[in-house]
Amino acid sequence: MDELCASGPNGDSLSVAEANGDGSYGDDLRAAGAKAAAIMVEHLAGVGDRPVWQPVPGEERDWLNGQDMPETGRALDELLEDARTHVLPHPMGNGHPRFFGWVNSPPNPAGVLVEPLAAALNPSCAGGDHAGPHLERGVVRWLAELVGFPHPPGGGLLTSGASMATVICLAAARQRAALADGWDAREEGLSGRPPMVLYVTEEGHSCLHKAAHLLGLGTRHVRTVPVDGAYRMDVRALRSMIAEDLEAGLRPFCVAGSAGTVNSGAVDPLGEIADVAAEHGLWFHVDGAYGALGVLAGGAAPHYAGLDRADSLALDPHKWLGVPVGCGCALLRDPAAARAAFSLVPSYLIDDNAGDLGWFAEYGPEQTRPFRALKTWATLSHLGRSGVARLVNHTTGLARTLAAMVEEAADFELLAPVTTSITAFRYRQESRDGLDALNRAIPGAVQARGNAFLTGTRLGGREALRACFLHPDTTERDLAVLLDEIRLAAKTVQP
Ligand SMILES: *Cc1c(COP(=O)(O)O)cnc(C)c1O
Repeated sequence: MDELCASGPNGDSLSVAEANGDGSYGDDLRAAGAKAAAIMVEHLAGVGDRPVWQPVPGEERDWLNGQDMPETGRALDELLEDARTHVLPHPMGNGHPRFFGWVNSPPNPAGVLVEPLAAALNPSCAGGDHAGPHLERGVVRWLAELVGFPHPPGGGLLTSGASMATVICLAAARQRAALADGWDAREEGLSGRPPMVLYVTEEGHSCLHKAAHLLGLGTRHVRTVPVDGAYRMDVRALRSMIAEDLEAGLRPFCVAGSAGTVNSGAVDPLGEIADVAAEHGLWFHVDGAYGALGVLAGGAAPHYAGLDRADSLALDPHKWLGVPVGCGCALLRDPAAARAAFSLVPSYLIDDNAGDLGWFAEYGPEQTRPFRALKTWATLSHLGRSGVARLVNHTTGLARTLAAMVEEAADFELLAPVTTSITAFRYRQESRDGLDALNRAIPGAVQARGNAFLTGTRLGGREALRACFLHPDTTERDLAVLLDEIRLAAKTVQP
């Protein structure tokens, strides 16, 4: 009998453990577990010594996407060796202190350490009486308390990310608006009713538009509210757009403000938006996926005044907090609104012990839900409130320092004020035309050099560079490296 792939009574393949039948699986697993832990530590400890990012070589791509599935099962030890040689050497780069791209953080080590434990328990956190759902209620409350969002019991749930959190919040808003008008969007669909209108700025995240599409609102009923010179929502324009839409017989139902845009980290005037929402009975959603935590930075609180008046808040523990991907969170002032939009309990899932709040699966589209709470709990517990504040202060400080360096340098230009931990800027050279083309080409050239990683965007109609700071180990010395890397990269690209 082949030791690694014995046949069971029905001809099905047995695992090594069952085949051995003498408890040796425990020893195999112990050795492999220790090895996995060692590989993980080796990887994390060495991140800073390797290039931030490099393209995946052709033969490695072939290995990754071209292999045949093995006919017979392979030993744990071999799989770990393969992961060590073919997977871990090809990171996206976001573990490195000089990764400044998009909004992707390094993983908090406490979050990494408990991931295998969550997988070992492998519950579905749809609901029920086990550790997962109970811990989820606890960490959702922690997150709400951390950013100052009013938290009634059970007022939120963890999601795959803020995109899904946004779908949940806007679905709740849509159903609440329909019910307020005396009909039921779930029952009837939207046809024949006045179109519902959503208001977001041009700096609003694409996930708001995707949610609007999924919810059947239609792109043409997502209004783009103009922004001011600091890329914040122009609330006077919002007012007049709502008035026009009411005049035209449409149904304004929701305004989404940003607590930290991706392009420049701008925070909309949330208090003023809350006033408008209250006047018109609109649902006030805040996209704090990246930036909600910024409220913890010293002196930042006034920018966030009004956040506590939101009906819903999307925030991403897998962004600034560094909870391993993926973990988003939808917080709702009235969680019953999400339940009204999603609850559908088939007979085989009726749980007489569920209590007043029911199951998490009643508050969103996911049924089987992973144990996201454990890594979130571990990360928050490891940092503590003061550690989170320290991280936020350190990274917002880096963004301000880079802005000051950019303003002092003749060959750089600052494009937006710094409110959170993102610096939006631009490279310029007196002698050179085509600055848009140049700035568009720079991020790729910087990335390829491997010493730093930044990404670009369009801001106010111009090509921009943006650096987002989320890593606790980034230093001011790294900022100087970044600017030098941009200068060197600029020499290599032809606009
Ligand atoms: C990342 C992000 C999102 C989308 O969240 P995912 O977790 O990627 O689904 C939305 N808004 C902002 C501001 C973000 O930074």
